[in-house]
Amino acid sequence: MSVAPDRVCVVVGRTRHKMVQAEIQEAFKRGAAFIELRLDFLARAVDFKRLAPLKQCAWLASIRRPQDGGRWPGKEDDRQMILRQAIISGAFEWIDLETDVANTIRRYGTVKRIISYHNMTETPADLDQIYERMLAQDADVIKIAVMAQHPRDNERVLELQRRATKPTIAFCMGEIGFPTRFLSLKYGAPWIYAAFNKERGVAPGLPAVEDFKTTYPVRSINADTKVFGLLGDPVSHSFGPVLHNHTLGRLKQNAIYLPFRVPKGQLEEAVKAFERVPVSGYSVTIPHKEAAAALAKEAEPNVQLCGAANTLIRRDDGTFFAANTDFTASFESIVEHLKARAEGGIVDFNSVFVLVLGAGGAARAVAHGLHKAGAHVTIAARTQERAAKLAAEIECKVVDWHARHNVLPCEVLVNCTPVGMHPNTDESPIHVSFLRPGLTVFDTVYTPENTKLINEARSRGCDLITGVDMFVRQAAEQVKLFTGQTPNVDKMREILRKAMSPLTRALDDETDDADAAADE
Ligand code: NAP
Repeated sequence: MSVAPDRVCVVVGRTRHKMVQAEIQEAFKRGAAFIELRLDFLARAVDFKRLAPLKQCAWLASIRRPQDGGRWPGKEDDRQMILRQAIISGAFEWIDLETDVANTIRRYGTVKRIISYHNMTETPADLDQIYERMLAQDADVIKIAVMAQHPRDNERVLELQRRATKPTIAFCMGEIGFPTRFLSLKYGAPWIYAAFNKERGVAPGLPAVEDFKTTYPVRSINADTKVFGLLGDPVSHSFGPVLHNHTLGRLKQNAIYLPFRVPKGQLEEAVKAFERVPVSGYSVTIPHKEAAAALAKEAEPNVQLCGAANTLIRRDDGTFFAANTDFTASFESIVEHLKARAEGGIVDFNSVFVLVLGAGGAARAVAHGLHKAGAHVTIAARTQERAAKLAAEIECKVVDWHARHNVLPCEVLVNCTPVGMHPNTDESPIHVSFLRPGLTVFDTVYTPENTKLINEARSRGCDLITGVDMFVRQAAEQVKLFTGQTPNVDKMREILRKAMSPLTRALDDETDDADAAADE
């Protein structure tokens, strides 16, 4: 039987009692069944009498010291006195006591004890010994929260979680450690912590409870949950998790898709660190696409052609197969668009002239795909050597970046640079005078969807393909590779647009369920 009152413990930390009261009430209204009150956040002495009347679910009290990531400014004796008061106040079912003080505070009544160890700077070498000592203490639940400096730290903490002999919640903090907060649930942790209010900076890497509604299906995680993820740096602002998790949910997969922040140069070690989970498939983004292609034992021909992979699929023997769904997605986006405009729906690529801006991963995928189909490709990129190298591989034309406006004829313009991407939304990679009615403008940038280039092209009567179309197609292809099932691409487009819109960030569960039912 589970020791937890709920799988999610909602953390409330505010400086004023009035705000604590407001957040407790709002959290309960939104479904919280277990709330941690971080009493160290309060600027004035805690007044249990003001808080207790609001109690409608299980509460946990903690008062963190600065060395544990808390804000308690006073003396240690006073802190322990308040912890004792919390225990006897009758307001709390749970109390959190740090491992070094837990033995000095006795068990009282039915109040359950979390004995915790926090390390805000590292995952210490002697973590196993620390855990052994904690096992000997009088705990109902043991909590280990340590900072991940390297993907290897995640592996050590997950290993500890796996072989836990008492109810244990072990995870890494920080962006690198983020996936372990979810994976610990898979290995039996009784609950996951989530901030009621992410803006309060309660703990590094702590997800917001809202994220579980919009993005991560934590309530259904169990030992059989399959794990997929995104390897990259940065990853925190990616729309991959929201899009993949909703899509996997609609396909009725017991699966979760998590962002794995992996610094440049650490891809191989990161993949090894999560080998035992195992992670069944990865999306791969900047800066690891080339490294992913090199890591795979086997790859589809497009990966060799582009020298880059954006997808890794784990085989039963633990090796990886690499794919490049950017290649197929960018090509399909263009083909479908041109087909819709061509007489009889047949595209004669031999008469299509394309100008590709950029010479990185996306440009490689676009240029190789179009060249293979027979189109006349010209490359223009800021770094001439990169442009020349790509053009030489393809045996296509290359022009100086400053001469890009002189490229004629041009039926399709493809932006494969990040110019115009958030936050530089007032930039465009090409002067508006280049844009004319009938020109197809494909901007691979998808944050925002309506870039300056897309807006100017629309006002000049061009035909448009946005980065959202490509992003959804490459993700749909990945879902197929991950699960063997074909997702509904239109629905994925809708999910992405909804998630990207700040006004509708919170996807409405009810609407989604109704849509899912209609889909079946
Ligand atoms: P990449 O490998 O880093 O290549 C970026 C290219 O853009 C390079 O040629 C780079 O030139 C050039 N560039 C960068 N900043 C520039 C600037 N200010 N002015 C002119 N050129 C500049 O990146 P990538 O993987 O190809 O991705 C490029 C863009 O494609 C991304 O920003 C993303 O928005 C988009 N993308 C979209 C999708 C999708 O699904 N919609 C998928 C993949 C990529 P240097 O060599 O001089 O740096």
